[in-house]
Amino acid sequence: MILTYVMLGIFGLIFGSFLNVVIYRLPKNESIVLPGSHCTSCGKPIPYYDNIPILSFILLKGKCRSCQASFSFQYPLIEAVTALLMIAVFWKYGYSVQTIIHIALILFLIPISMIDIRTGLILNKLTIPGFVAGVVLILVLQPERWKEIPIGALSGGLLLFLLAVLGKVFFKRESVGMGDVKLLVLIGAYLGFPDVIIAFYLGVLLSFLYIIFGFSVNKIKLGDTFPFGPFIAIGTIVYILWGEQIIIWFSRLINL
Ligand SMILES: [Zn+2]
Repeated sequence: MILTYVMLGIFGLIFGSFLNVVIYRLPKNESIVLPGSHCTSCGKPIPYYDNIPILSFILLKGKCRSCQASFSFQYPLIEAVTALLMIAVFWKYGYSVQTIIHIALILFLIPISMIDIRTGLILNKLTIPGFVAGVVLILVLQPERWKEIPIGALSGGLLLFLLAVLGKVFFKRESVGMGDVKLLVLIGAYLGFPDVIIAFYLGVLLSFLYIIFGFSVNKIKLGDTFPFGPFIAIGTIVYILWGEQIIIWFSRLINL
């Protein structure tokens, strides 16, 4: 058991390191395989011993060995978050196909969210492979759940599509983008119905909290826009880890 946690932690750091490459290069249409890691300031290749997740960042104090340019704190952060989420999913679901399916979903949600934050775009290059991976994983690991794939994907996509149309009609501008619709189709394929809807509402709730907090510290002004995808992704992760408890708590609340 402890060994599994350690292995997942190590794999999580390695996956996270790869996700950093995806986050940085995919929006620029660069290959995610070649060339190997290199410093974006001086262009020097980063040797394997300086490319160890988190450890190298600490040892080199976040700087390039050649030119001393600072590396973004995003790199160790994404590595740590990826590892911690993989461990958390195993802690929740143990040795089960659920663990594999949920980790796969999270490994797509992380780069989709980060690219949405950095560029405001949700890339088909991630949502389409993510959707295909989900369908394949569920058909192979949980074939009895096959019906949930189209129902989850359609209900998630339709809900957000309606919101996008309503947003356009009422606010005269794009408040929910087609990228968000595709993201919810992806999540729906993995989670099924009604889970995808609950995950979405958790995301909406988190975005409200963010807006209220942002207003109260004067970081957000009226008319500001911000990417919605990361909130849907965090809502989904919260649902994966604490969904049952939230449903129990909420049904008690209504019954009061
Ligand atoms: Zn450098």
